[in-house]
Amino acid sequence: MGSGPGPYQAQILEHYKHPHNRGTLDPSTHKGHESNSLCGDEIALTLRVDGANRIEDVRFDGEGCAISMASASLLTDAVKGKTLDEDAAMDRASVLQSLGVPLSAVREQCALLPLRALRAALGPAPAAQGH
Ligand SMILES: [Zn+2]
Repeated sequence: MGSGPGPYQAQILEHYKHPHNRGTLDPSTHKGHESNSLCGDEIALTLRVDGANRIEDVRFDGEGCAISMASASLLTDAVKGKTLDEDAAMDRASVLQSLGVPLSAVREQCALLPLRALRAALGPAPAAQGH
């Protein structure tokens, strides 16, 4: 229950204090919303995907701990400008690596929440979207 920064690296605090890509896209082509009951984190992602299946822009909104917010900031930076195929390569390991600190199992759920929201938004098969 400490309130200090603890073991968090400066990068995480920096992204928490000054998150990138915060807000909501309107209009958007994809939306995903996930929450983490263990910690009370909540992430809503909105994305705009262009005709070439490239993520033209992405925003996140929500409330949560430093880990979940920093992870959302890093993830949105990482996926912006990528194609859906490239994005599909984002997985648990790449998210955890981008945070750069060892996390407990509970904190991992915080770190992975934005990725879950991304998957909820984009779905399993981008190719299935219209033609
Ligand atoms: Zn959390």
